[in-house]
Amino acid sequence: MWILSDAHGHLGDERERLERQEAGILSLLCASTPGEAEELFRMQGKQGTEQYLIPACGIHPWQADRYSLEDMEPWILRAPAVGEIGMDSVWCRISLKVQEAIFRQQLELAAKAGKPVILHTKGQEKEVASALRQYPNRYLVHWYSCEEYLEDYLGQDCWFSVGPDVWWNPAVQKVAKTVPMDRLLIETDGLEAVKWAAEEGRKYLGQRRQGLSGSMEQWEEDPWGFGGGEHQWGTENRVFSSLAHTLKTVADLKGIRPETAGKQFRDNLVLGFLQVYN
Ligand SMILES: [Zn+2]
Repeated sequence: MWILSDAHGHLGDERERLERQEAGILSLLCASTPGEAEELFRMQGKQGTEQYLIPACGIHPWQADRYSLEDMEPWILRAPAVGEIGMDSVWCRISLKVQEAIFRQQLELAAKAGKPVILHTKGQEKEVASALRQYPNRYLVHWYSCEEYLEDYLGQDCWFSVGPDVWWNPAVQKVAKTVPMDRLLIETDGLEAVKWAAEEGRKYLGQRRQGLSGSMEQWEEDPWGFGGGEHQWGTENRVFSSLAHTLKTVADLKGIRPETAGKQFRDNLVLGFLQVYN
């Protein structure tokens, strides 16, 4: 059996939560607002969630103009990790000045409290890497999809989680190939993001019919139902299916067995990135 873990997700709906719980997928789930943080800790209080849920809290860059550090600080201090926080100039219209101010406040709080941080870097890869230097800490760079500045992060205490578009996105494949196994993890970013990655992938592959590997063809035919030989058990669990597919793709890129990679990714999450959490 492959060991699956999810280094980055969000609250999701009831069905997504049940999928995580039933498959026992250890998931680092991020609350982006104080309201979500309250809900996340309410979830954590429910029976069965201890098997899968690790909470993280932080004001997401898309929410940077709606909340202050004061609003989120109590939740940040309760959670074992901070995030996702960062800056975004691609999918977000909030001024970068506003984003950077709240980002730096949270970086400072996290470093002082000794809590590892999950980072959102879209379009601001260079700026985020340079900001981190002022706040020495452990960082998880989530779904990095930029072909540049990887070294800026690898020179610091940074870890990377690879997202569900690794089967077609060359920039994400580069991350999977370049980052050493002991700094690498896998993620869904929640099922909405998995769906987005599948749709984008179909468009991308429509333009590039050639050079598909077997697993890509299989995914294209049946993106939600990936079972993978003896792993048929996961066919109705979309969180499981996505992570299994990402695991297999990354393991292939690394030239190692999925069994080995799965164990390492989970160890990297619990014993590596989160270290003290148990
Ligand atoms: Zn996210």
